[in-house]
Amino acid sequence: MTEIAIIGAGPAGLMAAWQAAKKGHQVTVYERSSFTGGMSASFELAGQNVDFGSHRLHPATPPHLLEEIKKLLGEDLQVRERNGRIRLYDRWVSFPLRSTNMVRHLPLKFSFGSALDILSQPFISKKNESFDDEVTQRLGKTVSSEFYNPYAKKLWGIPANQIDSELARRRVSATSPFSILQRLLKSSTPSGRIFLYPKNGYGQIVECLTEAAVSAGVDIKLEQEVKAINLEEGRCSMELPTGNEQFAFVWSTIPLTLLPEIVTPTPPQQIRHAAKSLRIRSMVLVYLILDQSQFTEYDAHYLPGPETRMTRLSEPKNYRDGPDPENRTVLCAEIPCWQQDEIWSMSDQDLGAMILDDIERLGLPKPRHNQTEVRRLPSVYPIFEKSTNQQRSDLLDWGNSLEGLSTFGRQGLAVPDNLHHTLVMGWEAAASLDNEGNFDKKNWEESLRKFESHVVED
Ligand SMILES: Cc1cc2nc3c(=O)[nH]c(=O)nc-3n(C[C@H](O)[C@H](O)[C@H](O)COP(=O)(O)OP(=O)(O)OC[C@H]3O[C@@H](n4cnc5c(N)ncnc54)[C@H](O)[C@@H]3O)c2cc1C
Repeated sequence: MTEIAIIGAGPAGLMAAWQAAKKGHQVTVYERSSFTGGMSASFELAGQNVDFGSHRLHPATPPHLLEEIKKLLGEDLQVRERNGRIRLYDRWVSFPLRSTNMVRHLPLKFSFGSALDILSQPFISKKNESFDDEVTQRLGKTVSSEFYNPYAKKLWGIPANQIDSELARRRVSATSPFSILQRLLKSSTPSGRIFLYPKNGYGQIVECLTEAAVSAGVDIKLEQEVKAINLEEGRCSMELPTGNEQFAFVWSTIPLTLLPEIVTPTPPQQIRHAAKSLRIRSMVLVYLILDQSQFTEYDAHYLPGPETRMTRLSEPKNYRDGPDPENRTVLCAEIPCWQQDEIWSMSDQDLGAMILDDIERLGLPKPRHNQTEVRRLPSVYPIFEKSTNQQRSDLLDWGNSLEGLSTFGRQGLAVPDNLHHTLVMGWEAAASLDNEGNFDKKNWEESLRKFESHVVED
């Protein structure tokens, strides 16, 4: 029996733990916080479960994993139709975009501009070094300058021409105006707008995964922040609040940028510098508890423009048909920020006032606001800055070269991936493990290459 330590009880760590335990290995998961599920967890607020920002299980989930999730959740996993709106040119347009709605609501300037872009596309010079170049080349100048570039600046905090084109490849699924058209037609039918969501909140997925892992024999230790990992001379030991523990190997799902600080042998200076130079965008989540049964009928309002600080406003109750209180609802506003800026350190009260002000300026109904709650997530969006491309690739190469440790998960590979992508990673890690406990590095490297083709669903 091989002893495996997994750092982080998010979806990636839980799936890896469950599958490895099912193969008969002894698995211990060390989680820093007091709950499992990482960013995909839910928590209770005013008698209802809310998520860490708007979360959906996308139909793009690979069928074998969707099957497992369906088995775990049974009828609690509901099939829902998306009902969101996006703010474009001071108007609300259905999101995901629908052709009829767009024709009615988008200004002619935008439609003509986009049409002209399609015609002139073959003559655009093929330069795709930045996010801006990539989106312009694929979708035209109008779509990039009017929509994607302002949104990129708001989300990642730097201009789109300073972001590497790789992030566009991973974040923007439309590859041409024609593929946008195909999507428009698809999302104009109810079946093209479906998503999956558990009755008791998104966190029910990771709760079920936790139970499955524990039933398979996994030991999950909460409030155990891993402070040091020693990989010297073929050993693999970890420094934990409860003392030192020895393992055959470690799977880490914590931020890749933290590893050089806690791994011995100490990596070269160049790697430690690389880790420090990669910036990760943080997020403040502002929850407004309202004394009313529903705020609007929409599940989420998408706000790409600079006129508001929040990028999305969601109403968790509208994502499900669940056991939620009758006379109360909660709104969740997502505000991307840096840990050094004023948003991160603003008081809960001021953040609440700022969101209420945004809501008023958007012309949304006046909410019957009772209380504000705030959560701060330090590592949310990895930024593929053009200026740190080399450092990013050096750090990944170092992380993947370690003997006795493999790093994966959204933070472990510093990627913007969805939950279903990170479940694939956990699944594949366990698949690289044979019954004798040998980890097939070649197979794993092949999996790492496949993960590079993940494209985020919004
Ligand atoms: C606002 C927002 C909206 C999203 N919406 C969607 C969506 O609609 N659909 C979708 O599929 N995905 C969505 N995602 C992505 C999804 O949340 C992530 O892909 C998923 O949670 C990543 O899982 P993970 O296990 O890789 O990492 P995480 O969930 O980040 O888990 C990592 C775990 O490691 C723990 N940890 C960190 N450091 C240590 C340490 N030193 N010692 C021990 N433990 C440690 C953390 O506490 C955490 O529990 C969204 C993410 C955000 C932020």
